[in-house]
Amino acid sequence: MITALRKTNLHKLAAFIAEDFTSQNITQLEKIAESEDISVYYDHYENNFDGMLVCDEENNFHIHLNIDRGNTPDSPRGRFSFSHELAHYFIEEHRIPLLKGEAAPHGSLHDFEHRGLVEDEADYFAGCLLMPEKLFRKVPTGKKFSLDTILTLSGAFHTSVLATVLRFVEIGTHEICVVVSEKNIAKWFAKNSEFPDWAFRFKVHQALPPSTVAGEFFSKPDAKYTGVEDVEPENWFYPRWQPKTQMHEQCYFSDSYGYVISLIWFD
Ligand SMILES: [Zn+2]
Repeated sequence: MITALRKTNLHKLAAFIAEDFTSQNITQLEKIAESEDISVYYDHYENNFDGMLVCDEENNFHIHLNIDRGNTPDSPRGRFSFSHELAHYFIEEHRIPLLKGEAAPHGSLHDFEHRGLVEDEADYFAGCLLMPEKLFRKVPTGKKFSLDTILTLSGAFHTSVLATVLRFVEIGTHEICVVVSEKNIAKWFAKNSEFPDWAFRFKVHQALPPSTVAGEFFSKPDAKYTGVEDVEPENWFYPRWQPKTQMHEQCYFSDSYGYVISLIWFD
């Protein structure tokens, strides 16, 4: 868990860097690397990592991005991996051990199995760098929240749906809960503080509740996303009160990561 104070500091640092390198909402990651004399390589590294930051003996930094895991220069996944490796460079506590040779170059894998504070911090920073708060709030997304809101934002910043959803949980204007699953097994969840703090009917690493839209969506592998469905809070949660507005769920299948992303919200 990153503390609120730490998040504020990471966010400030990322926003400061992004300010000088943004062109029509898009953070120019190559230019940031260039300005810091970081060399960047896109190559085939099999399934070993998404991105890796290396410091050589002359104290020069290099970022390696793995095409074999879909990290091409223009793909949202590649941009997130690039941004994540820049995070390891810009966050002092990550960079200094590499410089001093106290930490081995570390390959970052963007899944929910290889977590830890350093990876969480780099992911958080990466989201802030790619989607600066000031710009994020300016994108017109309409009044009603749905997956379309996220797709509009992900189009505006050229970021993956997953990265955009996570950023929305942090700074979005609507109360939402997100559950990420793979082959019907819950991998991860996040909700913002406005969303009711109810206990879930599932545990991470276990099957999703069968009556959820996500649970049904899992059996329709050809669909990219579902419509906005009206659902009962009891499908997902042990609700402690009856909400005054309707709960909705909509699911999206992320090709590049192989996850089902469930958005849950009220209106
Ligand atoms: Zn990493």
